[in-house]
Amino acid sequence: MTLHQPNSLEARDVAYQLHPYTNARRHEEIGPIVIAKGDGVFVEDVDGKRYLEAMAGLWSVAVGFSEPRLVEAASRQMAKLPFYHTFTHKAHAPAIELAEKLIAMAPVSMSKVHFTSSGSEANDTIVKLLRYRANALGQPEKKGIISRIKGYHGVTLASASLTGLPNNHNAFDLPMPGVFHTMCPHHWREGREGESEDAFATRCAEELEALIEREGAETIAAFIGEPVMGAGGVIVPPATYWEKIQAVLKRHDILLIADEVICGFGRTGQMFGCETYGIEPDIMTLSKALSSSYLPISAVLINDRVYQPVADKSGEIGTFGHGFTASGHPVAAAVALENLAIIEERGLVANAAAMGERLQAGLAGLKDHPLVGEVRGVGLIAGIELVTDKGAKLAAQPPGSMAAKAFGLIQERGVILRAIGDTLAVCPPLIVEAGHIDRIVQTTREGLDALA
Ligand code: PLP
Repeated sequence: MTLHQPNSLEARDVAYQLHPYTNARRHEEIGPIVIAKGDGVFVEDVDGKRYLEAMAGLWSVAVGFSEPRLVEAASRQMAKLPFYHTFTHKAHAPAIELAEKLIAMAPVSMSKVHFTSSGSEANDTIVKLLRYRANALGQPEKKGIISRIKGYHGVTLASASLTGLPNNHNAFDLPMPGVFHTMCPHHWREGREGESEDAFATRCAEELEALIEREGAETIAAFIGEPVMGAGGVIVPPATYWEKIQAVLKRHDILLIADEVICGFGRTGQMFGCETYGIEPDIMTLSKALSSSYLPISAVLINDRVYQPVADKSGEIGTFGHGFTASGHPVAAAVALENLAIIEERGLVANAAAMGERLQAGLAGLKDHPLVGEVRGVGLIAGIELVTDKGAKLAAQPPGSMAAKAFGLIQERGVILRAIGDTLAVCPPLIVEAGHIDRIVQTTREGLDALA
């Protein structure tokens, strides 16, 4: 039963769409909010209600929802060459220029870029590249990948396997063999009584090393991680975590994949999350803020340790048999190039750092709220974990129910956050201004007060 008018967009949505990440039966009851347009950090629904989009539309829209330069870049490229592929020795200028730009921007030395259209496709591609590389090196056992509980890497069979969240495994018969999950670097939740952040980081590294030794380093190709976990609940690692993890990986000759799909292009207050945490990856995954998600595009950056064996193998067997029709799509690539130019020209990374400080300071003021267990974040990404009992860190039952209610109360008041388990996530566009930040903080407090 739906409350919506027959033939309304809401009713037709319920009639025809199976939505991603949505409880299908519940959707039949409540239907969607249909978003009609966007401007700056705001979106507006078909009834004219405006929302401050404090999640940048799934951690994506760096330059805001109405950037005319991206529209013009798309239109120019559409008129010139709306589509061409990049298979079998074909290329076009937008993909070439974007690849060159990404190699120049990368925080460490990278050799090549392989384009895909989503974060999931990019990570799926990495799993295949690593298999190909292992075979090329004559190390056919060395194909395992370690990721982390609560890590998020996408939804294809391989990338959902890398993801460390039950919803992405349950009922899908995942994870697939060869994927191993190690502990989540969440000190507040996982730390032992009296354990310092540094000691906890040491324990994370020791547990990783124990897993590698149990499985045999000769069977593990790579470790994948987001510099800051996003969709698992905005989990900020201890300061020394990445340094200790990298030491373990180096000792065992295991490659490091930095999934920068959320952190990349300014989110942490620096261009890449890798810079914020001193991470030196062999492979990087980029998407979302790469094009502000105006068009779908993602990129896998690989260094020579990955590229050279793959090139050798394709020399031997004749082809690297992988790629998507839309890989490096010219219109998406042209939009991404313009988007990156805007991020640089307008100093949006510096804005993310400055507004990030304001956001973190504002949200820190919620720590005393009776329903708030932890406030965590860096730059323009933050999480507010809700509890029913602060001292005991007790989560609501059923899990996630309180965050879902808080999310609804905040959204009614015109600010869109995201409820992830017991955590409210905040991740506004990089163009956000001080007044917007203050409104996000104030409305979040009002929503929590209404719930208390
Ligand atoms: N990796 C990370 C870190 C992500 O946050 C996401 C999506 O949120 C993905 C990969 C998957 O990207 P997509 O939804 O474009 O497949």
